[in-house]
Order: sequence, then structure tokens, then C-alpha cells
Amino acid sequence: MTKQEYESKPAGLIFVMLICLFFATGVTARESAMPTWQPLTVVATAYCPCERCCGAYADGVTAIGRDAFTPGVAVDRSVIPLKSHVNIPGYGTVMADDVGGAIRERRIDVRFSSHQAALEWGRKTLTIYVKARSTD
Ligand SMILES: [Zn+2]
Repeated sequence: MTKQEYESKPAGLIFVMLICLFFATGVTARESAMPTWQPLTVVATAYCPCERCCGAYADGVTAIGRDAFTPGVAVDRSVIPLKSHVNIPGYGTVMADDVGGAIRERRIDVRFSSHQAALEWGRKTLTIYVKARSTD
């Protein structure tokens, strides 16, 4: 065994042990924080990115900087954390990516790209399912 081999082996072993430790703790943390779908009964209205719906906030981007012309939902962030996954019957599963002045407590606002589509949605009382964003 050369001097170089003797010195590199312990370092290699420690490296492998650290990798194992990293994966072991990572898996444990992920299992304990595994998000589940939570039912929530809400009043769901709709909006679009236009000035009639958003007033001074009609800049085409949501509160967290996403494209307001793509599907998403505005929420009260104290009830549904921003970036949660939200399953809305008749609409789809989207990200909670926006907020609104009138969107308080169990009221959500689903987003359409056209004002007409938002009007057609109207106002519904629905049971939605919310899953917190996974922490990984
Ligand atoms: Zn509109």
C-alpha cells in the first residue's frame, strides 16, 4: 500500500457514511412531514386577470409571481397556505398562488383567463381538498 492509498481510504469511508446518513435522515423527515389531502368546505367565486376583477392589481402576475393567465386559485393564506395544492371539483387541481381583498376565511377565487368564463362559474359552495406543499 502506498502512502497515498493509506490516506485516501479513511476519507472515502467517511464520505460514504455521510451519504448514508444524509439519505437516512432525509427519508425519515419526508415521512413525518408527508402532506395529506384535507377536505375544506368553501364558497368558490371566480375571477380573471382583467381590471374589472383585479383593479390596480391587474398586472398579469399573481401574488407569488405566477402567470395570471394560467389556472390557479386565490386564497386566504391563513386558511390555505400559498403554494398548497388545491383540488376543486369542476375546476381541477391547481396551486394556491394568489390572494385578494375579498378572499377571507373560507372563500376562494378560482382563476380563468377570460372574464366571461369567470362570470359563468358564478358562486358555488363546494368541498375542496387541500394538500400542503411538500417540504422537499
Ligand atoms: Zn375579469
